[in-house]
Amino acid sequence: MRALLDKYAGKLVVAGLAPAGGPLLAGLDAELEWSREAGETAVLAGLFDLLNINSLVFTPLAEPHRSLVEALAQEAEGAITPEDCETRTFLHDLPVVRDFAPGPLAAALKRRKGCIVPGRGLLAHGTVSPEQGFVTVSSMAFACFVKFFSDHLAALRRGAADAAARERFARIASLLPPQRSALPDLERGPFAAAPDAVRAMVQAGKATVDFGLVDSYFGNISYLVDDTLHISQTGSSLDELAGLIDPCPLDGSTSHGLTASSELTAHREVLLRTKARAVLHGHPRFSVILSMDCAEADCPVRGACHARCPRDRCVADVPVVPGEVGTGPTGLCNTMPAAMPGNRGVLVHGHGLFTVGENDFREAFSALLAIENLCRSEYFSRVADLSA
Ligand SMILES: [Zn+2]
Repeated sequence: MRALLDKYAGKLVVAGLAPAGGPLLAGLDAELEWSREAGETAVLAGLFDLLNINSLVFTPLAEPHRSLVEALAQEAEGAITPEDCETRTFLHDLPVVRDFAPGPLAAALKRRKGCIVPGRGLLAHGTVSPEQGFVTVSSMAFACFVKFFSDHLAALRRGAADAAARERFARIASLLPPQRSALPDLERGPFAAAPDAVRAMVQAGKATVDFGLVDSYFGNISYLVDDTLHISQTGSSLDELAGLIDPCPLDGSTSHGLTASSELTAHREVLLRTKARAVLHGHPRFSVILSMDCAEADCPVRGACHARCPRDRCVADVPVVPGEVGTGPTGLCNTMPAAMPGNRGVLVHGHGLFTVGENDFREAFSALLAIENLCRSEYFSRVADLSA
């Protein structure tokens, strides 16, 4: 247990979500173990009596996450409700608990996977492994980031951002890490043998997480060798894919339907419509933010944009399509692949970015990073135009 606690504490720091030495994790085996000594353990230990859990992840946030979560929490009534896909499918809403005491915290954690504790950070629980709390905390930080920057742009469009809001925004934006553009040296394809393809996928998955283009656990990746699509398993961590890649014959003759990524159909459709062998899918933050930015004042489908936005939209040369997770009639497997031919990537509304490579992940990764950097620049130029 101790090794797991240290592992996920370390991953929060490496991901830039928590300050070094900040995360406090607890796990219950024969007895309750803590990742470090801290004053908060007295209150948090009480949660193990009130909830049916085996682990907790409690962490202060590193900048800019700390400031933007505080800003959102300050304005929240009882919960924050982001509109990105991770929140819709995974978190629902983010309760804000101002009273750092076992009772109120347990009440929030009975309803949701995690909560925000203003002035302190994020808290999440796990019933099986501390990995669950880690995934929840990462996802909450992602959702808050997307919401903060989306809300500001939307407020500018409505003419509702006052001087104080603009000043706060400028301060938080100045805390963003610098944009990265140097590419990792990923393996060169094409890969004719499955083990080579799998090794390249493991490498590209890890680079995607290392560059902050997806949180570990989300995103997916695939590569086509002959008539077999190798794809990451659903619920796998993109930075730890070894052993978690399924071979799925395109003719469906043997099915890994239960473990293969929920996005298998979408990946297969992309490969059938393009010359690509490699497909990479991440949730880069500014790509997700811009995919949701809409200049339409009174759009009749507002609120259901992710399912059925009827407009032809794009960011520069990159199309933006609606599409829900899964294979239903409004599923992204029906919208995203159709938009891919001739493009370097496709943005799915409120969700993320898909890119392709003909031979390997060098091209797919480079498109993922370039489009995220483009979206980040475009975001700040829209903010500047609307602030003028
Ligand atoms: Zn996704």
